[in-house]
Parts: sequence; structure tokens; C-alpha cells
Amino acid sequence: MSKDPEVYLAKDLAGGGEIFRRLNPPARLAVFGDPVAHSASPPMHNAALREQNHDLQYVRIHVTPEELPDALKNLASADFLGASLTIPHKQAALPIMDHVSREAQLMGTINTVAVRAGKLCGSNTDGPGLAAAVIEEFGRSLTQLRVLIIGGAGGAGRAITVQCALEGSPSVIIANRNKEKGDLLAQEIQEHLEFPISSIPMTAESLGHAMKSVDLIVNATPLGMKTGDASPLPHLAEGLLNARHLVYDTIYSGGETALLKQANHVGAKAANGFSMLLHQGVLQNTLWFGEPAPLATMREALRSLRN
Ligand code: NAP
Repeated sequence: MSKDPEVYLAKDLAGGGEIFRRLNPPARLAVFGDPVAHSASPPMHNAALREQNHDLQYVRIHVTPEELPDALKNLASADFLGASLTIPHKQAALPIMDHVSREAQLMGTINTVAVRAGKLCGSNTDGPGLAAAVIEEFGRSLTQLRVLIIGGAGGAGRAITVQCALEGSPSVIIANRNKEKGDLLAQEIQEHLEFPISSIPMTAESLGHAMKSVDLIVNATPLGMKTGDASPLPHLAEGLLNARHLVYDTIYSGGETALLKQANHVGAKAANGFSMLLHQGVLQNTLWFGEPAPLATMREALRSLRN
């Protein structure tokens, strides 16, 4: 693989994306983000592309919110097959698509763009990725689990909340810092899917009360990304965490987050976001190529990043 800069710019996609065509192999997939240098997606996707003998590579492109519409529109003329979207583009990209899957419409966010016959098709693999990760980590399906999603009305949170509703979890509770956003999402889901869902404030009392009636607790806030971040479970609620809970922290920054520490302390089964990252990536690969993705190779690529 060539030694070109690790992060490209949105303007590099303009005028046919000559810079990407000249790479060896040419870049025809990318992750768009702001920031994007931290993204673990390129090593995971490039390992898959090599295994599948696709003569192309996946790169990081720094795209600001202002640049997003043009960057997306330039994908087809630069001969890209698609792109992954990360913070802060998942919601803003949706109205720019020519076609959006029903699930992604409900989620209100997309993390995957596929270019098909010059048209932009948006999907969301975060929700199904979390569902697959929960099966892998805990041997249980969302269909069987009463779920509390902290940060449930954020980008990843919405995808997870809607996934739980689509899979028919026995009950779903959203706790969002901005409770109005949580209320609005619960209302939308009730209207479109006729699914019972409740929205609670992110207070210790409400979280503590909710924890008595849930099996799985998901953190979909960024709390835990930075060393020293507090847990999203305040002290009072923490006392109600126990060994029968399953705890999934979507954070995949490496170390043990404060939430995972709390879970491990009480003997609850707990997992970090690496498995979600893996499974959402596997589903993206299948969307782009219409063939099974090399799961073991992609897992190994992510594992070597952690070591
Ligand atoms: P986002 O759209 O900005 O949403 C963030 C959510 O967290 C919102 O609900 C927000 O509440 C809440 N929040 C933010 N700061 C908070 C704080 N200090 N205290 C309490 N709540 C807070 O971000 P996102 O794209 O959903 O990403 C969220 C996390 O999910 C990130 O850590 C990311 O790494 C992780 N993620 C993981 C994967 C994976 O594959 N493992 C995939 C996607 C995302 P308000 O609505 O009130 O602002």
C-alpha cells in the first residue's frame, strides 16, 4: 500500500478525485468525519478488502459539516463505491440521500452510504451491529431483553433504540440528557411502530428506578471516551447495578471505562464497543459488495489495534 497522507480532505474528492484514482490500489471507499484521524475503520475494512481480493482501498477523509453536501455529491464522480459516516455527519447526511432504507428513516440517522447507479443510498448498520454484538458478548438477543439506553436519543442511541423496537424487546427505556429529545423519539417510535417505550430524565433517581426492571444497560453517550470521564450511571443508581445486569458500553477507545469498572465490580457481564464496531463494519462491507464479509479477518485487524 502506498505511503500517502493518512487523512485526506473533502476538496480531494472534487474534480473527479484524481488523487484517489492514482493511489495503489485506488481509494474507492472512505470514512467521513470531523475529526476522523482516530477512526479504526480503515484497518478493519482494508483487511477485509485484501482478503476479498478487491483491488481498492478505504481511506479517512476529513469532512466538516459545511463540506458534507458536496463531499457526498462528489462520491460518484470520484468513482467511490460508498462511505462510512462518523461524528458529526450521521443525521445531516440523511436528507442528502437519493434513497434511505426504512430502518434508517426510523432511526433518523445513517452511517453507511452506497453509490448505486450514480445514486446515493443511505443505511444504518449501527443498530443491527449492536444487536449482533449483544448476541456475541452475552449469548442473548435483543428480542429477549428489557433494555435501558443511556443517551438513547443521540446518533448511535437512536439507532439502538429503534433496533430494540424493531426486534420487539419486551421493554425499552431511553434516558437522555436533553429529555425533550428522548420524549420526541419515544413518541415517534410509538407512532410508527406502535411499540411501548418510555423516556426518563437522566437523574440518579430515575435511572435507579429503571434499573430494577431492565436486563441490559447500554451506554450510548460519549462519557468514557476520555480518560477520567465519569460514568453515565450516577452514584445513587450505581448502587442498584448488580450481577444479573448485562452492561454494553458502546465506547471502544481502549481502556476500561468508569461504567465497565462499576459493572465488573458487582460481577455483571460487561463488554465494550469493539464488537459493535466490528459487526457494523461487517454489515457495511456486505452492503457495498453484496457478499459475505470476512468476519474473522476484520476481527483480527481490530484486535491488533487494541494490542
Ligand atoms: P451524539 O450523536 O453526539 O450523541 C451523544 C449522546 O450522548 C446524546 O444523547 C447526548 O445527549 C449524550 N451526551 C453527550 N454528552 C453527555 C454528557 N456529558 N452527559 C450525558 N449525556 C451526554 O454521538 P454519537 O454519534 O451517538 O456517539 C455516542 C457514542 O457512541 C460515542 O462514544 C461513540 O464512540 C459511540 N459509538 C460507538 C459505535 C461502535 O461501533 N461501537 C458506533 C457509533 C457510536 P443530548 O441529546 O442531551 O445532547
